[in-house]
Amino acid sequence: MRVPIISGFISTNNSQSLKKENSCMPKLYSSPLDKDLVSFKQRIPVAVSSSSFHSINALTREIKAIGSKVFFDNDGSEKILLIAQQIKKSLLEIKAKGLKIPKMEIHFDTWSEMNKSEAADTSFWVDHGKIRDLIMEYNTPKYKYLTKENLVHRIPDNPLESSIDADFHHEFAHAYQAFFNPQNSLKLKSENFSEGIKEEIINKINTIAAQNKYEFVAEYFAYKMIGKNIESEKLAKLYKECLGPEI
Ligand SMILES: [Zn+2]
Repeated sequence: MRVPIISGFISTNNSQSLKKENSCMPKLYSSPLDKDLVSFKQRIPVAVSSSSFHSINALTREIKAIGSKVFFDNDGSEKILLIAQQIKKSLLEIKAKGLKIPKMEIHFDTWSEMNKSEAADTSFWVDHGKIRDLIMEYNTPKYKYLTKENLVHRIPDNPLESSIDADFHHEFAHAYQAFFNPQNSLKLKSENFSEGIKEEIINKINTIAAQNKYEFVAEYFAYKMIGKNIESEKLAKLYKECLGPEI
């Protein structure tokens, strides 16, 4: 039997739930504080160039060499170039952690068929216990903003948490868990949290992470990878129990 599983997507109607933590120090960017990222609300320039076009093609090949097929509507724009650079950087960071890259497709070209409220989604099929068609999709037009550190993001008040970097890591955790242990992914989607844990998750991470264990793993992984501290032994233990990607 083919069991469709559509991951809990990142909703764009949920901006209040993305908690801003001015005290944290994002390690991936030169800016020392979130508020510096927030203050720079620049729309991504619309300029296109043939050099960007060629660079995007080159990055597509480089990303494939790292282990993932990626598809862009290559319009030669600075925005697509920045996204391609970020995806390559994120994948290399993931590999540097010793994690394997699942066999998957990453699509920035299928957004017109996506639900309008979704920012990103990872879907797959489980067929006789085996994973099929692992596909990650991004609602490309929603990534409109840029920080001065060239971080492409969706929500001006939450640049780091709504960045393509954070979203990619969130979806990567779903893809990783689905590819290497699909039965565990199914289990995590249906299991409830034990007493008191939900409040801890909302307090230390956000409400998206408190939806179910599957979303918890994805948000926990994303927060860690973008350099945000989650100071909670309880949540570290839960992440381990959920078999989150080891970081
Ligand atoms: Zn998710």
